[in-house]
Amino acid sequence: MLQSKLFTKTVKDAPKDEVAKNASLLIRAGFIDKTMAGVYTYLPLGLRVLKNIEKIIRDEVNKAGGVEILMPSMQPKENWEKTGRWETMDDLYKISDSSGRESALGATHEEVVVPLVKKFVSSYKDLPLYVYQIQNKFRMELRAKSGILRGREFMMKDLYSFHKDEEDLKKYYEVMKQVYKNIFERAGIGNETHLTFASGGSFSKYSHEFQTITPAGEDTIYVCNDCGVAINDEIINEQKECPKCGKANFKTEKAIEVGNIFELKTKFTEAFDLKYKDEGGMDMPVLMGCYGIGLGRLMGTIVEIYNDDRGIIWPESVAPFDVHLILLNESLRSTSGEIYESLQKAGVEVLYDERMGKSVGEKFADSDLMGIPYRIVVSEKSMEKGGVEFKKRSEEESSIIKKEDILNYVKKVQ
Ligand code: ATP
Ligand code: MG
Repeated sequence: MLQSKLFTKTVKDAPKDEVAKNASLLIRAGFIDKTMAGVYTYLPLGLRVLKNIEKIIRDEVNKAGGVEILMPSMQPKENWEKTGRWETMDDLYKISDSSGRESALGATHEEVVVPLVKKFVSSYKDLPLYVYQIQNKFRMELRAKSGILRGREFMMKDLYSFHKDEEDLKKYYEVMKQVYKNIFERAGIGNETHLTFASGGSFSKYSHEFQTITPAGEDTIYVCNDCGVAINDEIINEQKECPKCGKANFKTEKAIEVGNIFELKTKFTEAFDLKYKDEGGMDMPVLMGCYGIGLGRLMGTIVEIYNDDRGIIWPESVAPFDVHLILLNESLRSTSGEIYESLQKAGVEVLYDERMGKSVGEKFADSDLMGIPYRIVVSEKSMEKGGVEFKKRSEEESSIIKKEDILNYVKKVQ
């Protein structure tokens, strides 16, 4: 993509109304725009990152048998009354039309997915079933101070699994733990992300969160020094030993919850009377699990972890482009144009800064702020030295490489 065609511009100073580093950097670099508190527009660069994250999630979830659907944001009030959550869910947005008819803006989708599945599942032969979507959620978040980590409108991957018995549910729950591990590893935050035991509420002993350690975190977790699993704030009081290895040797960390998984069991299937007939023709309750990941929260978490005082440093797997190609001297426009073409032909995604009237300093500052993994500079100076200047955003050293060798240096990870 030609940088001159990006209609967005980088901003030098941090926006005054953003305290969160993720939002501040993403706004300055032209990835997102704040529409109102807790509500953001994804601009061309930001959308590319979001799509890369979406691709990783979709790929891993599909491998685990997930079947994708798309449910609506507008949801019938009756369904929310059936589960009792019309009254009890504090962060639910309720809307009404001119006739006074009320509905809910989806904060989560059990109230839609369970009646949906009831239309198709009646026998043990229809189970198990794993449906998911990547879709917008609306929540009346009171503290919307964490940028895209906590939106009032935000994208979530939510998967709902349906099972004939507890054993089957537990088996799939373990599969999803691994799926989440894979997703966070591919997104570049595997090392910082810990499986965390949380209280399971009324329906199971534990649920699990995936918590990524960073000072920007709103949560406090206790990480076992021996095995690396963690316990969250709520249960540390009753759970004195590590639930995995039994030791009691924790370090306290700030962390962001990037995902969580729940055994819902019959909490929602009972509300909608979702049953199946077993082999003997007996009516049995269907059991459920649910599994969420916030895409914007994951993107914001990556930014919180990967940045320096010059800007963002995207992991290659989610970066908006692989290469930032920068032309510095008009005399080399055709040479750099050829490099642009040949990289694109090889399937490398390139943002080409072919803008004139920008100083070298401005171009480099923009590039560092945006954080594309590889920078290639075409200038008279580099040509005198025998080629183009090649630099990784994550490293300080640059080197001069021959034009013909560029492709060898730009190794694609995906
Ligand atoms: P939190 O405790 O942070 O409010 P939650 O327990 O309400 O999270 P869930 O309802 O389980 O979260 O949602 C699943 C996932 O969706 C979370 O793990 C998180 O990644 C993401 N998520 C939740 N709320 C938001 C939000 N307001 N903005 C962005 N992502 C969110
Ligand atoms: Mg919440």
